[in-house]
Amino acid sequence: MMESRETWVALSALQHLLFCERQAALIHVERLWLEDVNTATGRLLHERVDLPGHDARPGRRVERAVRLGCQRLRLTGRANLVEYHPDSTSPTGWRPFPVEVKRGRRKSEDADRVQLCAQALCLEEMHGVEVPEGALFHGAQHRRQAVRFDAGLRARTEAAVARMHELLERGHVPVVPRAPKCEKCSLESLCLPQVTAGQRRASDHLKRMMESVEF
Ligand code: SF4
Repeated sequence: MMESRETWVALSALQHLLFCERQAALIHVERLWLEDVNTATGRLLHERVDLPGHDARPGRRVERAVRLGCQRLRLTGRANLVEYHPDSTSPTGWRPFPVEVKRGRRKSEDADRVQLCAQALCLEEMHGVEVPEGALFHGAQHRRQAVRFDAGLRARTEAAVARMHELLERGHVPVVPRAPKCEKCSLESLCLPQVTAGQRRASDHLKRMMESVEF
């Protein structure tokens, strides 16, 4: 029986997860969303680059807004852009090369690289060829950063997909401590990290008290 794609992980969820597990769960388990100026700018940029289409550039074929899926990982989503480079060592004569367009500067964390690697894992299954590298295009710097999909990045990506499946299957929204990144989070007013983390501290304290009481 074909499994419903409702239970699949969205490629976009991986970036949320690497930023904050609670944010990923609020968006993908609780289906909450609030737009701020950063997310609105990102959305408008993606609407511009995400128009389906294709064209040929010297030495490559380019497809935009490409639907992706991976049965093995139960992963689904869309790539901004996939280039197909001629490659005589590939069984198809072509090698897919995903390019993800990002609004801001290069992030120190792995979130963008993990999302791109997840696209590569989908393309590998869809085309039956190895996809060894892709690129991130950062709007603020107007340049590409090459990303190699090495064993470490593949392992981190598969671990992130597995963790997202776990949150979705349990319908779980983890409580995490407030951190400096909360100030950049568009969901801060829904998440209330200072309140929820405080509640957890209080409930942990209560639990420890109960455990120490002998009945
Ligand atoms: S406000 Fe902080 S804890 Fe809450 S979802 Fe955002 S980053 Fe995570």
